[in-house]
Amino acid sequence: MILHRFFVIRRLSVAALALCVALQAHGGVAASDEPLASHATDEEAQLNLFRQRGGGAGGAVCLPLADERDPDIRRNRSMLASFPVCLSKATVRDAGRADWVFTTYSNKAAPNGPVWYLPHDDEDAAFDAAVYAIATYGGRFIAANAREERNFGSIDPNRAFGRTNGSVGPCAITRAYPAYTKFVMDGFRGARNILTLHTNMDGPPLNVRVNSEKLRGYPATANVGLSDPDNVVILAGRQPLENNRRVARFATALRGAGINVIYERVTRANNDCSLSNYVTLSGDRRLYVNIEAQDGARTAQKRMIDIVMRQLGVRPVR
Ligand SMILES: [Zn+2]
Repeated sequence: MILHRFFVIRRLSVAALALCVALQAHGGVAASDEPLASHATDEEAQLNLFRQRGGGAGGAVCLPLADERDPDIRRNRSMLASFPVCLSKATVRDAGRADWVFTTYSNKAAPNGPVWYLPHDDEDAAFDAAVYAIATYGGRFIAANAREERNFGSIDPNRAFGRTNGSVGPCAITRAYPAYTKFVMDGFRGARNILTLHTNMDGPPLNVRVNSEKLRGYPATANVGLSDPDNVVILAGRQPLENNRRVARFATALRGAGINVIYERVTRANNDCSLSNYVTLSGDRRLYVNIEAQDGARTAQKRMIDIVMRQLGVRPVR
């Protein structure tokens, strides 16, 4: 159905290659944001160059941390030395643009825990919180590696989700990036929830006082010291929150545990090609949870992770 060509440069075992082929034959990402009858096939058939170094989730080969010069790794060296980490890198190419680069960190002692995506390489506190998250709860996180910048060139990775040109009309991008979208969503394969971390000094003011057609804030109903309006958990769905029973129940629980909530009501017309919008519009039934803290509020963001994990029933692994 979907023709992808994989170029495996090195270190990918024959077994893993066979798995890739099997997954491709199976149709890759199940959720699509357009009917299959659209022109998705032509666009998806563009040459996708996929190179991977190190083992991804479940892979066997991990890159040595000691060789890494990335500032995020250097800043977290002691925390990253406190549990068994598997580091792997991947480069993904959409036709006609520069490569997307990612680094995946997984907790080898508890690889099947929560999965996180960090699209903004300039948000240091979010990265540090992600290291804390996988050290404490296992699992893995995939971080965009844009040389400490927010964007890859002129493209914001959190405004680049979309598999077909027809679906990205309302967005800032002028065409879809199917290889990018597929790589990130494949990273969530097997994950129970779609988790992400941001800090919010970037972009226009986003805090719990927001009240627009798309975004509505719901302040915490208990005070545990996290009430700064810039500390929020963002949830998303297609229906108004009051009609979205599962998400509304989760929002009420978070607010009662002292966390501000913003609910994002996503439609095809207001799609901005962010992860929350893509997940919602593609019909993914998993809970989208974005833990967004004021820039530099490292302690607050880690406490928010602890509360969200408790509400999701995820237990610490150490
Ligand atoms: Zn961000």
